[in-house]
Amino acid sequence: MTSDALMVLLVEDNPGDIDLIADMLEERESFRLMACERVTSALDYLKKHPVSLILLDLSLPDSQGLCTFTRIHSQAPHIPIVVLTGTSDETIGLSAVKAGAQDYLVKGRVDPELLTRTITYAVERKRLEQTLGESEERLRNVVDSVREVIFHVDQNCVFTFLNSAWSRILGFDVGDCIGRSFFDYICAEDQPRCRELLASLLQRDIDSVRHELRLWRKDQEPAWVEVDMAISPGSDGQPVGMVGTLNDISQRKKNEERLVFMATHDDLTGLPNRNLFEDRLNLAITHAARDIRKVAVIFLDLDQFKLVNDSMGHDQGDILLRIVASRLLETVRASDTVARLGGDEFVIVLPDLDAEDGAIFIARKVMKAIELPVFLNGQEFFVGGSIGIAMYPKDGLTIRQLVRNADTAMYRSKELGRKQICFYSPEMNEKLLERLMLENDLRRALDKNEFEIFYQPKLSMSSGRIIGFEALLRWRHPARGLIGPEEIIPMAEATGMILPIGSWVLRTSCEQLVQWHRLGHRDLCMAVNLSARQFWQEDLVEGIAAILADTGLAPCHLELEITESSVMRNADDTIFTLRELNGMGITLSIDDFGTGYSSLSYLKRFPIHALKVDQSFVRDITQDADAAAIAQGIIALGHTMNLQVIAEGVETESQCDLLRRWECNAMQGYLFGKPQPGAEAFKMLRSIM
Ligand code: C2E
Ligand code: MG
Ligand code: MG
Repeated sequence: MTSDALMVLLVEDNPGDIDLIADMLEERESFRLMACERVTSALDYLKKHPVSLILLDLSLPDSQGLCTFTRIHSQAPHIPIVVLTGTSDETIGLSAVKAGAQDYLVKGRVDPELLTRTITYAVERKRLEQTLGESEERLRNVVDSVREVIFHVDQNCVFTFLNSAWSRILGFDVGDCIGRSFFDYICAEDQPRCRELLASLLQRDIDSVRHELRLWRKDQEPAWVEVDMAISPGSDGQPVGMVGTLNDISQRKKNEERLVFMATHDDLTGLPNRNLFEDRLNLAITHAARDIRKVAVIFLDLDQFKLVNDSMGHDQGDILLRIVASRLLETVRASDTVARLGGDEFVIVLPDLDAEDGAIFIARKVMKAIELPVFLNGQEFFVGGSIGIAMYPKDGLTIRQLVRNADTAMYRSKELGRKQICFYSPEMNEKLLERLMLENDLRRALDKNEFEIFYQPKLSMSSGRIIGFEALLRWRHPARGLIGPEEIIPMAEATGMILPIGSWVLRTSCEQLVQWHRLGHRDLCMAVNLSARQFWQEDLVEGIAAILADTGLAPCHLELEITESSVMRNADDTIFTLRELNGMGITLSIDDFGTGYSSLSYLKRFPIHALKVDQSFVRDITQDADAAAIAQGIIALGHTMNLQVIAEGVETESQCDLLRRWECNAMQGYLFGKPQPGAEAFKMLRSIM
């Protein structure tokens, strides 16, 4: 007997049959035999010894029928079993084979040749089955470990195979989905196109398809996938179904959508940006042209945005813009477009109007919505805006014309004192042209010596004497006559001319004061206004120092007036510049006090000497108790902070009396003298002193 002989376990209770089998196998060297009479003893033996094959009689003292087979097979599933049946119950042998036995032999019809061949084949078949099972499992593991879904559907598009990526991507159990239609999972919008593609595939119009579609996930969210599909041919070459892969492309789709959103929307407010606005307006124009309807373009510019941005910081400015954006969205219909063009400029497209009334109605609603107070950092603000409207087709046929004309109308609203709604009219363009020409003239005005300075006296409350003058800019335009700073300064800031003009004002007024000093009025001071833009010039301090040195004016005779908002912009940097100027001995005052949004805690840290109470408070102090309370409050506040308080715009004796009673330190106004050219101011100086 050889060492690699097959170990055969014979489970049989009939001693005659045992002997018979033993005899048949004895002649063969390659078999060893062991016999057990009962299932229990066989199972016992199997636990302790290696066995190559079991020859199993189904009727034993402790077990009968197919049950005998299953008891042994379930305990030793890896061992091939050949069942022994009697001639009368041959069918049970077949049942055993169906249940997993390798073969059966009918007792009495067995010869040595048949027995050994059956045993050898059974062992070999079992070995093959096992290798096949293992390789199938390996394949299954590979298929399940790939990221893509791999699937097979029959001709009716019913799933016959799915790997586990399906449940990773969609959350469904694979077992629940086999036997269901692919279309049960495809989102309704994508179904028609999918049906077309499948039909083309089955008709062999195309060999394969690649298509992007949405599938429902188990959590009811759609997932974007890319499907690749091809015909799966049967043995006769005819399609029996389709094989394919599915890739999860949800993230890519999300990124693409985000990119498209970013290219068409404003980051800060989420409103459509200029690109999308132009698309929508274009569409509205096309529809209106076809249906003979009107389109309104409403242009809105916030009135106080710069002030809020400067005094409260950009973060609060951003919050304000978001609040405005959401209020605008609430006032219009879903079919209207609200866009932000940049800065504090918003534009609304109202498509499909039959008259201008519709535009006015919405414009009024918008105006109301943005006039509601806004709370920023716990402070209440009233913002308001100026609105201009242009109508298609009356005011323009193209996007460019409509936007430009709505902008022009908005500009007109600002000129009319803000918080207005203006429809575009052709004359407005003339006005705009005029302004452009004026800006052109402004660039040359300095060279052509067209600027002048008017001087307005400041009087001490206690002595009644002139203590100084404020230098106020005028432009003597050759065609338009005298133009005031309210018109010059914004233009100069817009054109960048403010820096040379500002330093001209400073130099000329310093020269004037030096002259008056020489003529005996040695205590006089000169107040010069600085615009915000000038204040942020890098070499501001050096420039002022140079002018003082050139003119020979002592710094203590120069006073710089800065408006609240320019001080509050980047308050921390401002302190640094103000300290430098203060260190040189220059006096600093806050102009138009009460109109900005000063933070008092900051104000305390600034090295300033005086507050100028804004004219708007002084004007009404004799009639209006609120105005009086505010003016008195500012004066008291100034004094507790050790500041001088100057009242601007004093026009009547009774105003003067009240201010004196409240111990205001100095006054300025038409009551004492209007701003006038140097020569006249000097005459006044001599007559009063
Ligand atoms: P401000 O510094 O508050 O100057 C006072 C303004 O009030 C002046 O207007 C003055 O003419 C006017 N005013 C003075 N007393 C009375 C009065 O009793 N009643 C009334 N109703 N008005 C009075 P103006 O000259 O038109 O200047 C306007 C603003 O322009 C100034 O306000 C100042 O902020 C700015 N400004 C003037 N000159 C310059 C300049 O050279 N540079 C800069 N950056 N700004 C300037
Ligand atoms: Mg001033
Ligand atoms: Mg003022």
